[in-house]
Amino acid sequence: MNLTGQKIAILGAGRSGRAAANLALCNGGEVVVYDSGPPEVFDGIGGDVGCHPLATEETGKGCEADVVVISPGIETEGEFASSFAEGAGEFIGETEFASRYFEGLVIGITGTNGKTTTTELVQRMMEAGGKSCEACGNYGRPLSDVVLEKIPPEAVSLELSSFQLETVRTFRPDVAVWLNFSPDHMDRYRSVDEYHGAKQRIFKNQREDDAAVVRFGEEVGEICASRISFSATQPDADYALCGTGILRQGTKVFDLEDTRLRGLHNAENVMAALAAVEAVNVLPDTAVSVFAEYAPPLHRCELVRILDGVEYINDSKATNLHALEAALRSQCRPTVLIAGGKEKGLDYTPLLAVLEGRVSQIVVFGEIRGSLIDIFSQAVSTVGAESLEDAVQCAREASGPGGTVLFSPGTSSFDMFSGYEERGDAYRTIVHALK
Ligand code: ADP
Repeated sequence: MNLTGQKIAILGAGRSGRAAANLALCNGGEVVVYDSGPPEVFDGIGGDVGCHPLATEETGKGCEADVVVISPGIETEGEFASSFAEGAGEFIGETEFASRYFEGLVIGITGTNGKTTTTELVQRMMEAGGKSCEACGNYGRPLSDVVLEKIPPEAVSLELSSFQLETVRTFRPDVAVWLNFSPDHMDRYRSVDEYHGAKQRIFKNQREDDAAVVRFGEEVGEICASRISFSATQPDADYALCGTGILRQGTKVFDLEDTRLRGLHNAENVMAALAAVEAVNVLPDTAVSVFAEYAPPLHRCELVRILDGVEYINDSKATNLHALEAALRSQCRPTVLIAGGKEKGLDYTPLLAVLEGRVSQIVVFGEIRGSLIDIFSQAVSTVGAESLEDAVQCAREASGPGGTVLFSPGTSSFDMFSGYEERGDAYRTIVHALK
């Protein structure tokens, strides 16, 4: 798509916005990046790209671009973005924009949880199958960066958040993976349906010769692509679990015990990855060869230390209750849970049944502390802590040899930290400092 003579407005001067600006520039567009932040947020942006700091709705109303490309961090229906959308020839997201310049295979991966793990697995399996593949999108580099490479990869394992999917129009993945769905991001969406609708757009442009890998029993509406199902709990799925064995239509493909991945949720991530690469002709025998080397990413049920017989686990990436539930279901030792963080409008009552019997004590902290005490104490003894240090101390006192201290916050971290990584690093440091 040649953009010569076209005005391209990019909303957001972060990684996605910068990458989209470069891509538009390389294709002949006249590019201006708009951001509501001060001039410093544009530091390092190249001279041929126009920069508009301190942008407001008024700026948007006066902007008439042929194409407006919005970064996933900006609310699509917020007033800022809407003001730019009004005068735009086309209003799309960075993923949609970049996908128009990529001719290779696209394996798109979405779901409330498990995207990163599955994206990494797919990338490695594709490489094992002899196809060059880059993991990108919501993971690693934006797709716009990848398509600009001199020799782009043959395939991308593309992690897709709902924010990226909201603004797709023609994007058509060869394989679309739907890992799971549960309420999240209620600070951005008006309803759970709206969040679900955004994710569902992954299937929107698929045709019969594409593949859709969907967790068995998930509500995803009509799908044109041919469907492959997986489930750790439903034996009728194409990929199913029997004990720790992963079966493909009844035949054992390999054993989860031979990997460093644990828990039913990881079994599902593995099945989804196997099904996705099988759809592009990577055989299961080749795909499973990656497990010898694969270590799960940090902050996802990561074992930090064993002290006085107690395992300390860092699951800081659990930013919603579905992930917290998955972590709880993976525990087989008496567990003390540390949870808490930002209030993002989720309903925690469905967790009560999972907590009961599995968790002996809960320690909560952060902005959401008060409401979690009210809810969780209906099932398990729950105390509040002033800080993460305090929380670890309380959890240590409540645990004993053979037990586990599970740090699985169940919400995001932005009340106290810059992100889940900083929060997980802080937990790790505190745990390592225990004497
Ligand atoms: P995402 O990229 O979708 O956030 P991650 O692989 O980073 O997914 O995992 C996020 C959190 O969800 C972690 O706490 C992890 O233990 C948990 N998790 C991973 N896979 C699943 C799954 N399939 N179902 C439920 N929870 C999961």
